Amino acid sequence: MNLLEIEKLDVRYGHIQALRGVSLSVSEGEIVTLLGANGAGKTTLMRTISGLLRPHAGDVKLRGKSIVRVGADNIVRQGISQVPEGRRVFPTLSVAENLLLGGYTRPTAEAKGSMQRVLQMFPRLAERRAQYAGTLSGGEQQMLAIGRALMAKPTLLLLDEPSLGLAPIIVRDIFRTLRQIREQGMTVLLVEQNARMALKLADRGYVLETGRIALQGSAQELLASPEVQATYLGKE
Ligand code: ATP
Repeated sequence: MNLLEIEKLDVRYGHIQALRGVSLSVSEGEIVTLLGANGAGKTTLMRTISGLLRPHAGDVKLRGKSIVRVGADNIVRQGISQVPEGRRVFPTLSVAENLLLGGYTRPTAEAKGSMQRVLQMFPRLAERRAQYAGTLSGGEQQMLAIGRALMAKPTLLLLDEPSLGLAPIIVRDIFRTLRQIREQGMTVLLVEQNARMALKLADRGYVLETGRIALQGSAQELLASPEVQATYLGKE
């Protein structure tokens, strides 16, 4: 059974149909990337999985059970955490407070243990644990957003454009972190504009075009696809 199964999802904003019959799956331990131009519907898909949007039709299943009506907080409890586009850290709370909020679904002692692990993983956050999150650099805020999502100890991590707006050297750091996360056996669904780096990390990928899945395949197949090369990879 797949960890996540999305079946024929339609999502609308009023009369705008953002997703049309989208089906995709993610199995345990996989990194799956979702590529697509601006406005293709990537964020809409992520927000529907995490229960922030209700689909018009279709289903989202976690280990075979529908989660479209269970509510966003229960979806976190069931093991799905999202790192939202734009990071959305709480600027007037400290790094440590932001992390603890990410662990709110768990008993305090467990959340504190997770915080130790997250701080080991991100030494820059450990050094800045008492600092206001709003005063961190963009890359540090992204690390904090990832760390906050890890605090819920998810089985499935949804990452929406973690490299957006960051300098190349920081983007490499973020991808190094994602490789570490993968080594810990976590399952990841990754939305990325940086298609080349995403496909080098991922096992499989899907290409979303104006709300539909236009292409899917192994990461190698997509890297070698002339269509993907022309539209998403550009020149090396
Ligand atoms: P980007 O890479 O720019 O973030 P995306 O692939 O994540 O794009 P979405 O943000 O999911 O795309 O948007 C998909 C479509 O739905 C777009 O046409 C967008 O204009 C529309 N849309 C998104 N949010 C809303 C909203 N709150 N109300 C109305 N339309 C929306």
